[in-house]
Amino acid sequence: MKWFDYAAPRSLAEALDLLARNPRARPFAGGTDLLVQMRAGQLDPDLLVDLKHIPELNELDCDGSGTLRLGAAVPCCRIYEDERVRRHWPALAEVAEMIGGIPIQSRASLGGNLCNAAPSADSVPVLIALRAVCRIAGPLGERRIAVEEFCTGPGQTVLGPGELLVGFEIPPPEPASGACYLRFTPRAEMDIAVAGAAAAVRLSNGVIAWARVALAAVAPTPLLVREAGDWLADKAPTEENIREAAELARKAAKPITDMRGTAEQRRHLVGVLTRRALQQAIARAREAQP
Ligand SMILES: Cc1cc2nc3c(=O)[nH]c(=O)nc-3n(C[C@H](O)[C@H](O)[C@H](O)COP(=O)(O)OP(=O)(O)OC[C@H]3O[C@@H](n4cnc5c(N)ncnc54)[C@H](O)[C@@H]3O)c2cc1C
Repeated sequence: MKWFDYAAPRSLAEALDLLARNPRARPFAGGTDLLVQMRAGQLDPDLLVDLKHIPELNELDCDGSGTLRLGAAVPCCRIYEDERVRRHWPALAEVAEMIGGIPIQSRASLGGNLCNAAPSADSVPVLIALRAVCRIAGPLGERRIAVEEFCTGPGQTVLGPGELLVGFEIPPPEPASGACYLRFTPRAEMDIAVAGAAAAVRLSNGVIAWARVALAAVAPTPLLVREAGDWLADKAPTEENIREAAELARKAAKPITDMRGTAEQRRHLVGVLTRRALQQAIARAREAQP
C-alpha cells in the first residue's frame, strides 16, 4: 500500500470540510471493505477520513415517533446487542450478526455495507424491506433518499463529491408486522451470499396489508421487487400466494454466472429464499399480532 494521510474529525462539519478540500480523500467507518480494496491496489486515496468519532454517525436511538435513528458508522455488534433493535427490528439484529465473524462485526457498519455498493451486501435488502431512508450530508446541505435508490451499479452510489451517508431512519414496526432475511452461502459463515432475499409483511384482518421483497447478489444492485409486494397486497397469506410472489421475485432477478454460482442456480435460489423469507416474516407478523 502507498502512504496515505489519516484524519479523525470530531464533527460532521469538520469531516465535510476535509472531504471538500481533498478530492482524493476517502471516508471510512470499519475499513473492512476499504482496507481490503486498498491492499489489493483497487483504490489509492491520499487521505482516509475516519468517521467513527462523529456523534451523528454513531447515533443508535429511537425518536419520539419510534423511528430508529441508526448512524452510518455504528458497528454491527452495537446493533445486535441493542435490546430495542432485537425486540422491534429482529431481522436487522440478525443481519448485523450475520456479517463476517465477531472481529468484523466489532468494526463493520451498515453505512459501509451500503456505501461499498456490493450487490451481495447482506444488510441492504433488509434495510429496503424495512423501508429505511438514508440521510446524506454534503457541501449543498442534507438530503434524504430511500435505501433502494442509493446504489446505482456495482460499487456505484448516488453520493456526489464530498457527500457522506450520515445514517438511516427506520420506521417503527407496525402492529402484526414481521421481517426476515435469508441468504445462501456455501459455508455457514464468513462467506459472501450467492443469493439473498429479505421480506417484510404486515397482516390486517386476515390478509396481507402490504409486503416488500428485496434481493441480494442477483442484479447489479440490491433489488426491490415491487411486483412481488404488489401481488401480495390484500391477499390471504396462503402457500399459493407466497409461491406466486416468490415466482415474481425469481423472474425479476437478473443474476450473472461467476465463481460463486451460475445464473441458473441463483435464479432457483431466489425462488426458494423468497418463499422461505416470506413464510418466516408472516410467522413473525402473526406472533406480533396485538
Ligand atoms: C472477513 C470478512 C467477512 C465479511 N463478511 C461479510 C458478510 O457476511 N456480508 C456482507 O455483506 N459483507 C461482508 N464483508 C464485507 C464488509 O465487512 C461489509 O460490507 C461491512 O459492512 C463494511 O462496513 P465498514 O464500516 O467496514 O465499511 P468501510 O470499509 O469503512 O467502507 C466501505 C466503503 O464505503 C465508504 N463509506 C463508508 N462509510 C461511509 C459513509 N458514512 N459515507 C460515505 N461513504 C462511506 C468507504 O469509502 C468505502 O468505499 C466481509 C468482509 C470481510 C473482510
